[in-house]
Amino acid sequence: MEEQEKRGTVSGLETALEELAQERYAKEVEELTDHEVYFCLLELTKRVMAAAEPIRGEKKLYYISAEFLIGKLLSCNLINLGIYDQVAEILKNRGKDLARIEETEPEPSLGNGGLGRLAACFLDSIATLGLPGEGIGLNYHYGLFRQSFRDKLQKAEKNEWIEECSWLTRTDISFEVGFGKRKVTSRLYDIDVAGYHNGINKLRLFDLESLDEEMVKEGIGFDKEAVEKNLTLFLYPDDSDEAGNLLRIYQQYFMVSSGAQFILHQMKEQKYDLHKLYDHAVIQINDTHPTMVIPELIRLLTEKEGFAMDEAIRVVSRTCAYTNHTILAEALEKWPLKYLQKAVPQLVPIIRELDRRVKEKYKDPRVQIIDREDRVHMAHIDIHYGFSVNGVAAIHTQILKDTELHAFYELYPEKFNNKTNGITFRRWLLACNRELADFLSEIIGEDYKRDAGCLERLLQFADDQAVLDRLAEIKMNRKKELAAYVKEAEGVVLNPDSIFDIQIKRLHEYKRQQMTALYIIHKYLEIKGGKRPSTPLTFLFGAKAAPAYVIAQDIIHLILVLQEIINKDPEVNPYMTLLMVENYNVSYAEKLIPACDISEQISLASKEASGTGNMKFMLNGAVTLGTSDGANVEIHELVGDDNIYIFGEKSEEVIDHYRKADYISGDYYQKSPVIRSAVDFIVSREALAAGHEENLKRLYNELVNKDWFMTLLDLEDYIKTKDKMLKDYEDRQRWKKMMLVNIARAGFFSSDRTIAEYNRDIWRLK
Ligand SMILES: *Cc1c(COP(=O)(O)O)cnc(C)c1O
Repeated sequence: MEEQEKRGTVSGLETALEELAQERYAKEVEELTDHEVYFCLLELTKRVMAAAEPIRGEKKLYYISAEFLIGKLLSCNLINLGIYDQVAEILKNRGKDLARIEETEPEPSLGNGGLGRLAACFLDSIATLGLPGEGIGLNYHYGLFRQSFRDKLQKAEKNEWIEECSWLTRTDISFEVGFGKRKVTSRLYDIDVAGYHNGINKLRLFDLESLDEEMVKEGIGFDKEAVEKNLTLFLYPDDSDEAGNLLRIYQQYFMVSSGAQFILHQMKEQKYDLHKLYDHAVIQINDTHPTMVIPELIRLLTEKEGFAMDEAIRVVSRTCAYTNHTILAEALEKWPLKYLQKAVPQLVPIIRELDRRVKEKYKDPRVQIIDREDRVHMAHIDIHYGFSVNGVAAIHTQILKDTELHAFYELYPEKFNNKTNGITFRRWLLACNRELADFLSEIIGEDYKRDAGCLERLLQFADDQAVLDRLAEIKMNRKKELAAYVKEAEGVVLNPDSIFDIQIKRLHEYKRQQMTALYIIHKYLEIKGGKRPSTPLTFLFGAKAAPAYVIAQDIIHLILVLQEIINKDPEVNPYMTLLMVENYNVSYAEKLIPACDISEQISLASKEASGTGNMKFMLNGAVTLGTSDGANVEIHELVGDDNIYIFGEKSEEVIDHYRKADYISGDYYQKSPVIRSAVDFIVSREALAAGHEENLKRLYNELVNKDWFMTLLDLEDYIKTKDKMLKDYEDRQRWKKMMLVNIARAGFFSSDRTIAEYNRDIWRLK
């Protein structure tokens, strides 16, 4: 209980809570609703963090990102502050349940998926390692949309997460941001970030002072032209039309201009010499969304600080580092120069100058910033004018060097480095699976909480029957809890004795949810033909699709159609259940992942830069069914062939198919009766009776005639490998051992390791 002394005694917390209950509601704690208790705990936690030591240093990291998918904060903050158990105890004595109270916390949806969640995990680890570092981003009032299903289609609504009490603290810091002649004011809000048993950093979120929430009409629709009123309403909205794209540029510039001014403001406060900016600040650019911070800093230094252009470029280039998150061509931002001219004309001369210098030195058109069609390649700005370029998993960095960014690698081999992603074990183990965390502490000690490598001690117990049985028992407990939650939330009954097969991630063709759907059809047809699985199966999906992404909507529709067909069929439902949960988000992930047996990580090889969901599952004792892609490759190396199921073509083969353009999905469809009957079912009488012809036919045609992400290429191997996996599940002893090895080897994927590497190789914080 040494923590208790450090953070205040139980009675100190108790008194503070009682006082807050009186202050806010003039009630005893016992009389408060769960939501009122949440507000009191939020306030209490904020006070504890405000009183704690901020992390300081001679050099500070600014992690600038359009997304921070932080999730609910109460329980993780209590854990990191070392007061979770005390608070739970105090509440219990008053008839309150902390787990139920947590349910009333709204989840901020300030990110789309993996990239935003990574930024949030990094903030946790940066503070945990005691490094001075701040996140810089935007305070979206409605964030990413809330998803619901109506008529088996996705509907998008706004996610209101800012309540009368929230984790945000308004500051008196504000800046002017100009868009040509138009000017708006940004206002800084802070969220404290507590390290695990360590100091406090801050997440800095900029908000538009003149925001008008009233402009949101139906669903998530609003006037995209009225930037003075809309900039921080939503996380980058629909980018399918010009207004959407332009708005995204406005948003990005609003973020980076506020961020750049803030950084310079902090440097001046410390009286640092701006000519040595790189000795006191390092800016990590999370994907290309914040790229304009480079020209903006150059602009501020030359226009406001009297720097010569050469000197400004030199200083900024030594300060900024870039993380690449994708090789998908459509995701690499290229803004038409005329959009930039319209939104941020003051940056255009700087960008032209940066481009001129590149063209003067290098003739290769592949490395130019402004291409022949007058599009500005944002990543190229980062690579030329930053000092580090990193990929997010070994295979991803290799592909960048070998193919996607090969021309740049030839110019700047020294800039390229890999930082395999990680996840914070505080949220993805200690908070979401307390029973497992406690059991691990019991048998291998608590060291793994600070030094995740210590999880390997678990390997000593690989043949210990009691340990193996206990791991299986904990898994069963999570499955039962999930079943209870899902029954309440979705009205669907899950059988905890079935195999929980889970695919949760953004909906995208490259992630191939459609392949899982085809497997499910295959199983369904088998069962209808009399071939029943010996252990029942439960398939769980969770995924939001970008509103403008038509095929993704169709895939959701297919899954919901299958859900109805399968769950309603008394011949099938004893053996198989399917559920796509509504509004998959961080909180849902925290419930689903600990309950998983089979982790679906089946992206087309070469397309998933890293993945982090795969790591969360592994840590919680799920076994991976995956392709040789992203961090799956490193998981495979760590656990060995016997503890993972890898299938499908390798990345080199896939890249080859693209280069030769020799993949023809129709051939696979024609050749294989198994594939054909699964694909045909999409437009069968049964499916059309349950769904919409337009959606189902479009998806069918896409698969048979195009299938850009090569679903049919790997489908047969997928079916074979998965069937083998289901058979192996019956060998309970073998399976429990696989669970144990996966947990034991997950230490490498702690974001503490990732952040230590960023600091060692890139940031060098003092
Ligand atoms: C971890 C996480 C992701 C990323 O999942 P991948 O499988 O790596 O794509 C996306 N969304 C949420 C809510 C997450 O927690």
